[in-house]
Amino acid sequence: MPNKTLLIRNAESLVTMDAQRREIRQGGLFVENNRIVAVGPSETLPHSADEVIDLRGHIVIPGLINTHHHMYQSLTRAVPAAQNGELFNWLSNLYPIWARLTPEMIGVSTLTAMAELILSGCTTSSDHLYIYPNGCQLDHSIEAAAQIGMRFHASRGSMSVGQSKGGLPPDAVVEDEAAILRDTQRLIETYHDADRYAMQRVVVAPCSPFSVSRDLMREAAALARHYGVSLHTHLAENVNDIAYSREKFGMTPAEYAQDLGWVGHDVWHAHCVQLDAQGIELFARTGTGVAHCPCSNMRLASGIAPIRKMRDAGVPVGLGVDGSASNDAGHMMSEVRQALLLQRVGFGPDAMTAREALEIATLGGAKVLNRDDIGALAPGMAADFAAFDLRQIGLAGALHDPLAALVFCNLGAVAYSVINGRVVVREGQIATLDLPATIERHNRLAQRLVAG
Ligand SMILES: [Zn+2]
Repeated sequence: MPNKTLLIRNAESLVTMDAQRREIRQGGLFVENNRIVAVGPSETLPHSADEVIDLRGHIVIPGLINTHHHMYQSLTRAVPAAQNGELFNWLSNLYPIWARLTPEMIGVSTLTAMAELILSGCTTSSDHLYIYPNGCQLDHSIEAAAQIGMRFHASRGSMSVGQSKGGLPPDAVVEDEAAILRDTQRLIETYHDADRYAMQRVVVAPCSPFSVSRDLMREAAALARHYGVSLHTHLAENVNDIAYSREKFGMTPAEYAQDLGWVGHDVWHAHCVQLDAQGIELFARTGTGVAHCPCSNMRLASGIAPIRKMRDAGVPVGLGVDGSASNDAGHMMSEVRQALLLQRVGFGPDAMTAREALEIATLGGAKVLNRDDIGALAPGMAADFAAFDLRQIGLAGALHDPLAALVFCNLGAVAYSVINGRVVVREGQIATLDLPATIERHNRLAQRLVAG
């Protein structure tokens, strides 16, 4: 089959996140099929291609990488009973609602959440689905990702320790541990693609130390390592989480993770707001990743994750919007902004720059997901990028520094998004989905789910 080519040219600024961190004026890139073959000033690139997009007046960035989400929660945003609690209270109010989820709800909420992410500059997302009532399966998320065309790391979450065994979730929403491991193995064998430019990877992801057993954590790690796939869970999210760990296991969450074999470059933990100095040192030494979710941490008053200390120590850090019931926005560039602002609240005005915040959401996310083919615009990288129109109202007066404008200002939706060489958003419209119809269907399902 002949190569299909795409030429992007005349971008006001093209942010590469390459080794030199080049920001190219009047920049462009040349794509063959799903990968970038050339990046540079427009006049240095080929003059024609199968498709040419002139991005005069736009800024182009590497596609953002979302390292933590629960997309089904898009159906339960701003639920009155769960608006004002901390993590455990918030979960306890939502579990009974989530127990009514159906396969159709998983599919439609995944499409909705992905559309929102893509329109905010995100091209790769993980999703952590850990509740499987009424025939719901991770397959329903994976099918939605393929439909919309998003690069996807599907995390097979699970809960096995219900209230009767001292866990937090009601018994009705937990699964049998042998069944969890069998289904996880089935998903890896059916969907996991280890190749470069993979659009679909599977992750082994028991929900959290307070909802599964020590055995399941250990066996999950063994399964993941047998297949060479990544591991993901929630860790050290707030002070109650720490207290549970000390009481139940006699250890800090980081010590527990180490004891279970849940450290290494193939592991990333969500939140880590309460990771202590020893934990930071352990994560840095072992290359264990962290998904930082600033909006969720603020929403649930979990605290300020010590991202400055983690980055200084060498811990890989990516960014996540977290589930839509604890954010309740799924806007990745806005999350970049919140990451910058929250570090400054905690650690001073020089705690994070705009460029570092964007780096966490691109190169940082790629590292956390254990990938070297996304996160930067350079020859040989996947053709994943987003373009924002610099002439929008939220950026008016900020064009002295277009990259910083994206982070500091209030930004609208992307003008273009290209994922794996395919134009998924064109002139602000998603090309792979009827968005208004999807939102309408999503809202109907949300109403049905919450009303019971
Ligand atoms: Zn989460």
